[in-house]
Amino acid sequence: MRQVVLDLAEYHPIEPLEVLSARIGVPVEAIVKLDANENPYGPSPAVRAALASFERYHIYPDPGHRSLRQRLAAYTGADPATIVVGNGSDELIDLLCRLVLDPGDEVVICPPTFGMYQFSAGLCDSRVVAVHRRADFALDLPATLSAITPRTKIVFLASPNNPTGNTAGRDEVLALLATGALVVVDEAYYEFAGRTLADLVPAHPGLVVLRTFSKWAGLAGLRVGYGLVDPALAVQLWKIKPPYNVNVAALVAAEAALADADHRQRTVGAILAERERLAALLAEIDWIRPYPSEANFLLCRLLRGSGRALRDALAAGGIFLRFFDQPGIQDAIRVSVGTPAQTDRLIEALRSHEPIK
Ligand SMILES: *Cc1c(COP(=O)(O)O)cnc(C)c1O
Repeated sequence: MRQVVLDLAEYHPIEPLEVLSARIGVPVEAIVKLDANENPYGPSPAVRAALASFERYHIYPDPGHRSLRQRLAAYTGADPATIVVGNGSDELIDLLCRLVLDPGDEVVICPPTFGMYQFSAGLCDSRVVAVHRRADFALDLPATLSAITPRTKIVFLASPNNPTGNTAGRDEVLALLATGALVVVDEAYYEFAGRTLADLVPAHPGLVVLRTFSKWAGLAGLRVGYGLVDPALAVQLWKIKPPYNVNVAALVAAEAALADADHRQRTVGAILAERERLAALLAEIDWIRPYPSEANFLLCRLLRGSGRALRDALAAGGIFLRFFDQPGIQDAIRVSVGTPAQTDRLIEALRSHEPIK
């Protein structure tokens, strides 16, 4: 076994709803799951209909994802030759690492941020250099630029960033691109923020923009994401991806989701409206301080009590959220924006919670 694998911390998989339900004695339907930024409304009815009527589950999927890439070209305005599709954007993060990282190469991340960058880069035996964000979670651009060395192959930025909810500036990304490193801007929450750097891809071969159907489209369980990349990079990614990396159900569902713009606007609109209501209700609780967010979740600082204790207390009653206890976000929780009824359950539980240190 490779030493980098032996050195990895053991994996603690998230528990499926049925297992949680059995453990805490709350029926699955009554669980309020606000811990993974999933879409509480699920996919469009057009997606369910397309999956139900699809007739070729016995045939292998198109390794070139042609039909979905055509639709994505219309949705993004990008040339199909610049679009790559993955088994979730997680797979694209992994493929990008395996494409460019030799052992000993460096990857720059800006924590607190999404965990998969460090995970995939680490598996390639590269050195992960962490440049912490400022107190307001803005990038520390000068420090990030000076962390970049001739061995730096990738800079990973999520925009909006998970878990802090803020976006990266266009000028900041341009400054990073000027170093020659590959800059991966992960726009998993683009549809909620409404801002993108995808228009920079054609003129900047070093820029990769990643997107996913997991958040806005309610398809987290089907695993489909895509990248907008330089065509020369796309050619090399095609070589290393597993041929059938995206299954036919995921392809059918993603196409149907893109075709239903009304549903997208309605559910994204409902989530944005609910985010504002949730933020206002959280701010009324004197020991919780929500940060601004451009995504479908709110990071909150706890002025009293620990994030872990709060997570455990709410989980016992069937309400799930994430806590963080790491540099930059000690005693913090991240709450995904759910339905109005889920917000009400959460707020009621928080109001009756007594935070203890
Ligand atoms: C949720 C999330 C993803 C997940 O992508 P999948 O397409 O589900 O693999 C990627 N990046 C960030 C920053 C996320 O928060």
